[in-house]
Amino acid sequence: MHDQLRLEIDETESLRQLWGQALDHAERALGREAVESWLRDTHPISLQQGTFTLGAPNATARAWIEKKYSRALAGILGDLATTSVAVEVTVRKSEASKSDSGKDSGRPARSRVEPPQTRPAAPASSFFQSIPLNEKYTFDNFVVGQSNRFAQAASMAVADHPGREFNPLFIYGGVGLGKTHLLQAIGHAMRARDPRARIAYVSGETFTTHFITSLREHREEEFRRTYRGIDIWLVDDIHFIADKTSTKEEFFHTFNELYLTNRQIVLCSDRPPKELRLMEDRLRTRLESGLMVEIGEPDLETRVAILQKRAELEGHEISADVLFQIAHSVPSNVRVLEAALIRMLALASLTRSAITPELALRALSAFVQAPRGAVVNVLGILKIVSEHFDVPIEEITGHRRDRQISRARQVSMYLIREMCGKSLVEIGQVFGGKAHSTVVYSCGKMEKEMASDAGLKSTVQLLRGRLARGGEAIAA
Ligand code: ADP
Ligand code: MG
Repeated sequence: MHDQLRLEIDETESLRQLWGQALDHAERALGREAVESWLRDTHPISLQQGTFTLGAPNATARAWIEKKYSRALAGILGDLATTSVAVEVTVRKSEASKSDSGKDSGRPARSRVEPPQTRPAAPASSFFQSIPLNEKYTFDNFVVGQSNRFAQAASMAVADHPGREFNPLFIYGGVGLGKTHLLQAIGHAMRARDPRARIAYVSGETFTTHFITSLREHREEEFRRTYRGIDIWLVDDIHFIADKTSTKEEFFHTFNELYLTNRQIVLCSDRPPKELRLMEDRLRTRLESGLMVEIGEPDLETRVAILQKRAELEGHEISADVLFQIAHSVPSNVRVLEAALIRMLALASLTRSAITPELALRALSAFVQAPRGAVVNVLGILKIVSEHFDVPIEEITGHRRDRQISRARQVSMYLIREMCGKSLVEIGQVFGGKAHSTVVYSCGKMEKEMASDAGLKSTVQLLRGRLARGGEAIAA
């Protein structure tokens, strides 16, 4: 006991550093899940006579860590400290008395030597875990160009000074333009700086699921405790928060609580706050009072640079004319751009061919999505959809809302957006002068529905395939 009281501050600091490094190694050895769910909430207490003592937030965590991870941790810590280390897990006193003190009464209470905390850590929840970050989505791997310069700079500023100037930060833009990448890059940068920061990356959909589950399982208290204990909240695809009053309210309260206590919040969506139908006015006002940045479609130069970066990550050096060929054929969506590159690399490797612009063209031609310049015109799409759904073209472009007509309209809009290279305003005009936000909304909805409705997805694929092949039925 006395020994522990004598622990110096800088000793505590080096202990923390050692533990921070161990967590990094543990993430590789045991997986991110294990670290985020069980180890992130622990505290290093001491390292004495070859025994590393770790403070767990409660008895359950202690038992689990001891059973599942103590051997691996002993190995990792042993390697780092270059000596053999045994690991002992104890319950931090403050939490132990609340939860399960009976079982631990034989163990010494060691919370006195814990490093000071600015804010009590929120208790771990086995249930409401944030989604793990993708290792590739870092600032280093993000190519900056005209279209995303502002968004990237704002994200870097937030990662440098969380909770200060730009709170909340709202990033919006079309599909596949790098919103998720930037959001997660903020997460990585902040974690590197402060491994103990509670960073939660969740999508609008995940938030909704968590909330609904908490209601169903009577775990609202745990839900609130967990969400409100977050230091940095990264919310992706906020437009997928269910359009239900209770979910929206809960989102607003969570947002408010974090916002008012200066926790950094970053949100992403495919449209600006004013077009988010499901937003309450008070939340919209809050969002608009922060910083809003748009990510646009990358220009040709940026697309080439993105491809080059990706090729580099894949361990390939590819000539500029090949990269140019791909970048030229895929106009906007970076995800599709990368898929084209990967496809070409696979083709080269499987057929043992050299990587040339011709090979790039072959790889691209197999893409169901028609490359720029393909003769897929609006009328062609309307005809093929009209035939498939047995709905006249005038109805598709009209205003009636019968189920079949609406469906044909959504599918047409989606295919036109994807295959014709028309602006949102132009597409809106095809459908009787609809606002461009309606087009965005409709296409987003289609994408979401296709994810859960295999029938709809295969209908779209079928029509897209016919159109890409020149459309057997297109006589226009
Ligand atoms: P969004 O969330 O906007 O739909 P993502 O962030 O998922 O788009 O990006 C799609 C893919 O494109 C990802 O693999 C991402 O890494 C890549 N990407 C997008 N923008 C860039 C960029 N500027 N530099 C490098 N990669 C990018
Ligand atoms: Mg995304």
